[in-house]
Amino acid sequence: MSADASVPLVETGWFPISVRIEGARVLLVGGGEVAINKGRLLLDHGARIEIVADRLIPGVQEWVETGKALHVGGRVDEAMLERIMPGCRLVYAATDDRAVNRVVAAMADRMGIPVCAVDDPEPSTFITPAQVRRGMVRVSIATAGGAPVLARRLRQEIEAWLPEGTGQLAEYMQSRRPTVSARWPETQDRKRVWEDFLDGPGADSARAGDVAAADRYLQSLLDGYGRTGEVWLVGAGPGDPDLLTLKALHYMQNADVVLYDNLLPAVLLGRVRRDAELIFVGKKRDRHTLPQAEINAEMVRHARAGQRVLRLKGGDPFIFGRGGEEIESLLEAGIRFRVVPGITAASGCAAYAGIPLTHRECAQACLFVTGHAKADGVLDLPWKDMADRRQTVVIYMGISSLQRAMDGLCEHGLPRDWPAAIVERGTQPGQRVLIGTVETLPRLAQDAGVASPALVIVGKVVEHRVVSPQDGE
Ligand code: SAH
Repeated sequence: MSADASVPLVETGWFPISVRIEGARVLLVGGGEVAINKGRLLLDHGARIEIVADRLIPGVQEWVETGKALHVGGRVDEAMLERIMPGCRLVYAATDDRAVNRVVAAMADRMGIPVCAVDDPEPSTFITPAQVRRGMVRVSIATAGGAPVLARRLRQEIEAWLPEGTGQLAEYMQSRRPTVSARWPETQDRKRVWEDFLDGPGADSARAGDVAAADRYLQSLLDGYGRTGEVWLVGAGPGDPDLLTLKALHYMQNADVVLYDNLLPAVLLGRVRRDAELIFVGKKRDRHTLPQAEINAEMVRHARAGQRVLRLKGGDPFIFGRGGEEIESLLEAGIRFRVVPGITAASGCAAYAGIPLTHRECAQACLFVTGHAKADGVLDLPWKDMADRRQTVVIYMGISSLQRAMDGLCEHGLPRDWPAAIVERGTQPGQRVLIGTVETLPRLAQDAGVASPALVIVGKVVEHRVVSPQDGE
């Protein structure tokens, strides 16, 4: 057997779809607690419920009495099911007896009618996902019936995150589809108009139910929409994909072309829209794959061609990321741009290594410096400021010049036993934390073979390092 044979080709055989159920006959077998929950959902979606059960709890009984559901049969028996089932769009086997549910499921399946045996995926041919509802918008979460508690937990999380007005927004967009299609018949153009709409203030107006304001904004897009692209300068954080901001993810999902650095962990690129074009513009120390001017020109070129360009950067684009230079060149070229902040390496590494960056007792300030030496090899740093003891100094790109930086600090007054640490691959799998002093750190780093990316943290805060008990090292 080849190694690949153990890799499943199909992650799950449960394919999500939305079934039109309004006005359709749905057979609900069962008249108790299990059935009432499913019945409520079905009624909410306008199904015509037909119930088979020998006993109905009061809530279900009430549906029958008020005409919301029909009571079409008592005890389950095959002949009766065979008579009733044809023509039903779905069947729910929702009695509290698993064996009975399985008989129902087998019969429905034989007739080619999708059937869900509640809490029993094995004989089911469909399952009912957990739902988050916002008007006509439905987010459903399914775990192939395998982890319903996880599905419910995810539902809570999405519930908290999904804006209240999402349903109204969807209704608004649906109502304006004909207008937009008439003006821009090409699918691609329409898609862009709607994406611009969602990115702009019109979406908030629609969510808040202010249709007039939403219309004004949509109209301005319809009038002014041309084929000029724009550039999104986005910070992707220090590596853990869960540290991406919602905005970063949003732009990653909408970009046509992505310009990325070598600092960017592959796992983050994996979150970019699949059909976006990926262009590597990373710079290696000493060997510039693409000089900055060329990167700038590349961004401008793609934007002028009408593309939405994502300039994706590790950490925060404005912290040692040359983001400032990039937007200057965009401004000069008259290209629209937006900047999205990211969690910078100092914040990410500090948090994941348990080292606070400031501390009431010992660090009233925090200084970010670059350890990147000039072309002539000189490390030109604000030594006097850096040697102030009431602060934390964070050195980015500080590994190759580590010895010189630590010597410089001592020469300017820091004691040799002053605490210092290195966080390598912070927030990423395989993160390493080395703890020492300004004297011992270069040696520790060398012995451990520390490689980029790594961050140096100098200051008393290193002694306040706290590691959560279960994380131990
Ligand atoms: N704009 C980035 C920094 C770019 S400079 C930011 O805001 O984080 C590149 C330097 O950042 C690296 O040499 C290293 O010192 C630091 N760095 C970036 N990601 C890191 C990580 N995951 N772990 C440790 N250091 C990191």
